[in-house]
Amino acid sequence: MNYQIPPDRFLPYLTTAEVEALPKEHAVVVLPVAAIEQHGPHLPVFTDTMILNAVLSRALESLDAEVSVFAMPPLPYGKSNEHAGYAGTVYLSSETFITVLKEICGCLAKSGFKRIAILNCHGGNTEIVSFVIRDIREQHGVKVFSIEPWRPLGGAKDPITPGGGYDIHAGEGETSVMLAIAPSLVHEGLAPSSMPSKLQEMGYPPGGGALTFAWLMPDISATGVVGDATKASAEKGRVMLDLYASRVAALLQKISVFEF
Ligand SMILES: [Zn+2]
Repeated sequence: MNYQIPPDRFLPYLTTAEVEALPKEHAVVVLPVAAIEQHGPHLPVFTDTMILNAVLSRALESLDAEVSVFAMPPLPYGKSNEHAGYAGTVYLSSETFITVLKEICGCLAKSGFKRIAILNCHGGNTEIVSFVIRDIREQHGVKVFSIEPWRPLGGAKDPITPGGGYDIHAGEGETSVMLAIAPSLVHEGLAPSSMPSKLQEMGYPPGGGALTFAWLMPDISATGVVGDATKASAEKGRVMLDLYASRVAALLQKISVFEF
């Protein structure tokens, strides 16, 4: 991948004795989770995982040395059944994904860690991550957090909100970030514009609201894209990447000292 987690913050590079010896009171372990799923005719199926890795690498590079944060390898498989049937989509069932998250976090708790942050870069994982963190808190007593880099904090507005928030999959936003981090993998000439008129008609706001309903990608898009990928640019991608990385870094710093 184009970005590398700083080696001194990559937890599996430590030995058992080193993990044991780490002061755990404030140490945060980040479990990155994403997806391998179709991203239209112009982006690789690895897009979510690549964006996740770039955001986390940048965030960790920017942290002060005294903030103790360690990353696990990204879990590239998530819940992507909205993209079932597209070649190259590889996903776990809801039940398996829940179990995998619980078991990984359970092992981190058994290793003595007290703070876990699940960093999620795929919208289809959101519901599961949201309830699983409470189950982990209840079962293991650790503090567990979920971070989704694309969501603004506390009413703030992002400088770039592609498609008024309806650009949710392989559109202007994700294509821009991919142009910034891995331009050789973007087939710009194939980028479509596919705004989700069905979602807009139903008043289904991507950030959450009164209505939600179950859609599969073919229900709402003929191209596999939800958004306008023709408006993407590397410059916009760099702005979004900087924003997401600084947001994640700030949240990790807060998590490291948070007390109930
Ligand atoms: Zn994506």
